[in-house]
Amino acid sequence: MKAIILIGAPGSGKGTTAEGIKAATGYIHVATGDMLREAVARGSSVGKAAESYMKQGTLVPDEVIIELVEERLDEGAPADCYMFDGFPRTQRQAELLDSSLEKRSGELANVFYLDAPRELVISRLTGRRTCRECGTIFHVVNIPPKKEGICDLCGGELYVRPDDKEDTIIRRLEVFHSQTGGLISYYEAKGVLARIDAAQPKEEIVGQAVSLMRAR
Ligand code: ADP
Ligand code: ZN
Repeated sequence: MKAIILIGAPGSGKGTTAEGIKAATGYIHVATGDMLREAVARGSSVGKAAESYMKQGTLVPDEVIIELVEERLDEGAPADCYMFDGFPRTQRQAELLDSSLEKRSGELANVFYLDAPRELVISRLTGRRTCRECGTIFHVVNIPPKKEGICDLCGGELYVRPDDKEDTIIRRLEVFHSQTGGLISYYEAKGVLARIDAAQPKEEIVGQAVSLMRAR
């Protein structure tokens, strides 16, 4: 088993980058935010536990997240390659991922930090539209859908995520800096971190990530 991680502030483009890396490499995309939104939509016990935190833009408790990820990894095969998007987000999640990888003889190959200035992430988040059906991300100005309000890929309805509101955006950025930012130096010390300028076009970002993956 092999794993890579995408770290970045909300709006840094983790989801979009992950789609590109997946298309180029076949890595399995594990996005805890998407998994949680599905759980909320289904009304499962995980969804019920997570919903209020997500609405407020704060982190869902580590226990909930770790169980979600462990269950997902248990379904996989030993040769699988995973790309974690939005996980880990705390020191504790990072340490538990380390032990989970060790237990499964997995290797953490790369961690990519998508580095984006504050004004950029705010403008990306305020204009973001998400497909309710397939999760594909659009932007009213930067990546407009062919038909307003409709997903180009599946025809699903585009909506504004409840946490993509101005106040919640500011809160999520604070949470990123206070709770997740420390992971950058954690992975830097392990020698697996690469910084990528997240203000570049998507193709450029994906290209850099994929060539760093191939170089390892
Ligand atoms: P973004 O990075 O744009 O904030 P995500 O879809 O990754 O979006 O996450 C949305 C919300 O889901 C977060 O604000 C948080 O409440 C919850 N969440 C997702 N992943 C985690 C995680 N690893 N730990 C704790 N909470 C998480
Ligand atoms: Zn769609």
